[in-house]
Amino acid sequence: MNTFILNRLKKKASGFLENRTLKTARVLEVRKWPSSTIIEIDLHMPTTSMEDWNEVNYMKCKVADFTYRDYTPSGWDAETQTCTLYIDVNHKGPGCSWAQNLASGDEIGYMGIKSTRQTPVNTSAIICLGDESSLGHLLGMQQLAVPATRFSGAVLMGDDTNRNLFTEYFRTPLQPVLRTDVYGHHSLTEWLLQQSYHLENTFFYLTGNSTMVMQLRKILKQQGYSHNQIKSQGFWS
Ligand SMILES: Cc1cc2nc3c(=O)[nH]c(=O)nc-3n(C[C@H](O)[C@H](O)[C@H](O)COP(=O)(O)OP(=O)(O)OC[C@H]3O[C@@H](n4cnc5c(N)ncnc54)[C@H](O)[C@@H]3O)c2cc1C
Repeated sequence: MNTFILNRLKKKASGFLENRTLKTARVLEVRKWPSSTIIEIDLHMPTTSMEDWNEVNYMKCKVADFTYRDYTPSGWDAETQTCTLYIDVNHKGPGCSWAQNLASGDEIGYMGIKSTRQTPVNTSAIICLGDESSLGHLLGMQQLAVPATRFSGAVLMGDDTNRNLFTEYFRTPLQPVLRTDVYGHHSLTEWLLQQSYHLENTFFYLTGNSTMVMQLRKILKQQGYSHNQIKSQGFWS
């Protein structure tokens, strides 16, 4: 069988599978940050129950034909079955183009909801660190942690406008940290070194680009935190 026919058969088969498994959500509102680097998307997900969301989840969104990208629902409300995605669009990719073209009233397709297995442990301090792509994840952790656990941390922001907007707009103990290096680990390390955390009963959650996550993990280990006290997940590299 030649490659052309094989590819057509493959497309047909995955199209068939997609039609059976794809769920739909409706876009309620789209908010673009003034710098155009972050887009917030409010979704209504009538076929997804959020009652048992005890871990931060992610959804595989269909962003183009046979193309999927992972995004994190945050600020979920189980009663209205709504949530918000925060999408970092400061690069080129099918996920960015998809997010930039969404408008209220659009329907989006997604392959169900999966867990990142990150949930705040019951301890005296939870510290979350991440970049702009993990904004939804960090806010999701806050939703699960507060008020039971002491929650804080930092999120990288590419410029002062975003940093100020974050402080004004979000009710959160997360501090916006200006990213002065490409992946942001130097900026977050500098911030970390200014904090004084107890070695015991402090848990770190690291999410975002893999370079930043790996480097911060190394620093925390050098500071004496154990493997169990550092939960990390690289989002992109
Ligand atoms: C569990 C999980 C949850 C995630 N949740 C979110 C979320 O809520 N919001 C969000 O924005 N992202 C999130 N991501 C990351 C997102 O899925 C990827 O960044 C995705 O690759 C972006 O797709 P794209 O088509 O825009 O770029 P791609 O086509 O995948 O990549 C194009 C190029 O851009 C680079 N790139 C990818 N993402 C970024 C970025 N953020 N900044 C700079 N360069 C980048 C890539 O390295 C590549 O060189 C999540 C990832 C995982 C694994």
